[in-house]
Amino acid sequence: MSNLFYQGRGRKPVLDQARGVYMWDKNGRRYLDGSSGAMVCNIGHSNENVLAAMRRQMEKSTFGYRLHFETEASETLARRLAGKMPEGLDRVFFVSGGSEAVESALKLARQHALARGAPRRWKVISRRPSYHGCTLGALAVTGYAPLTEPFAPMMQQMPMIPAPRAYLEGFDPTARETGQHYADMLEARIEAEGPESVLGFILEPIGGASTGALVPPPGYLERVRAICDRFGVLLIADEVMTGAGRTGAFLGGDHWGLRPDILVMSKGLGSGYAPLGAMVADRRLVEPVLDAGGFAHGFTYAGNPLACAAGLAVMEEIDRQDLCANAAAMGEILLARLGGLMQRHEIIGDVRGKGLLTAFEFMSDRATKAPLPKHLNAHQRFVDIAYDRGLIVYSRRTRDGLEGDHVLVCPPLILNGGHIDELIDGLDGALA
Ligand code: PMP
Repeated sequence: MSNLFYQGRGRKPVLDQARGVYMWDKNGRRYLDGSSGAMVCNIGHSNENVLAAMRRQMEKSTFGYRLHFETEASETLARRLAGKMPEGLDRVFFVSGGSEAVESALKLARQHALARGAPRRWKVISRRPSYHGCTLGALAVTGYAPLTEPFAPMMQQMPMIPAPRAYLEGFDPTARETGQHYADMLEARIEAEGPESVLGFILEPIGGASTGALVPPPGYLERVRAICDRFGVLLIADEVMTGAGRTGAFLGGDHWGLRPDILVMSKGLGSGYAPLGAMVADRRLVEPVLDAGGFAHGFTYAGNPLACAAGLAVMEEIDRQDLCANAAAMGEILLARLGGLMQRHEIIGDVRGKGLLTAFEFMSDRATKAPLPKHLNAHQRFVDIAYDRGLIVYSRRTRDGLEGDHVLVCPPLILNGGHIDELIDGLDGALA
């Protein structure tokens, strides 16, 4: 009997050790970590250099409250992080996770509107489906009904537009499944809401858990940027999952030269070694807020030196091992091999992704793109079968206009060809 409770009552094996792309439970059973936890452990488990850096930091200090001290670790990590951002995004605010980073972005955007004398701007448009976190503010911009509806009376749900579903050509016969078409929906929505009331637009550059690695159609992000500029709407990029090399570039938006006004990261930033997240903002946005009396927001553990030392060492490993390039190269091979699985297994209706953010989707009919019936709970059954065979993958049933079961295959970025063989064998067996 455990005192813990998370999602349900199901007991999981007890984790003992983890190294590289493998994890072992207390019974000595080995698992291939095909999802990097929850797309977190980008540099793999138990990296010696990160552990050594954390030990060194632990010997010096483990906590300094951010209003009392700066720390070398947080200063250095902020500088290194700013160096990897699009031009102008160089003001960094550390937090302990993705939801906290999203909350911080929403509150910075609002305080910026107040500081520049636009108090009527408060709506942050988001997309369906999307996931931006589990705190009430982040849920307000999350387009995923099963997670938001139960809390409806406790929060204000923000306006939503459909996320591009270009891969489902013909899904909506009236829609032109192009980047332009989906970006036009943003324009129409801003106009319908009243541009003077719209504060921001938040999006995952490549859809994560909510859509199963949906890559935006050509032209979409460029046009979204132009629309935000035209209406003075802040563009917030949620790179919690796509950041830190996951997609084969340091940021998911780098594939399209995306330049958001505010960007949030977490997951791969600490790579599982420490709870760490960051909001990085354009200095032109931050300065007026500081001039107007400061950013009225903060968490006790923000900028924790141990978490920042871990983050810094993680970033050094990403650079030293050139993990963005490895994610790009291995991702191409993995995607092609998943395509091979699709040829062998009729149940797979789509394979997609970028770098090592890849996914496949189950369908009952490829021609019509019809999903499997919900009651089959196919994605969870698949995950359980794979798990029993020593392979960990991550799945969801997408809702909100993109009904279907998808499985994310997102191993650590240190992946090699041998690991891919093992991963594909495991998936093949589980699919059979
Ligand atoms: N944004 C995105 C895109 C995410 O994928 C997640 C986590 N899955 C979050 C925000 C929330 O992060 P956390 O669970 O660390 O609060």
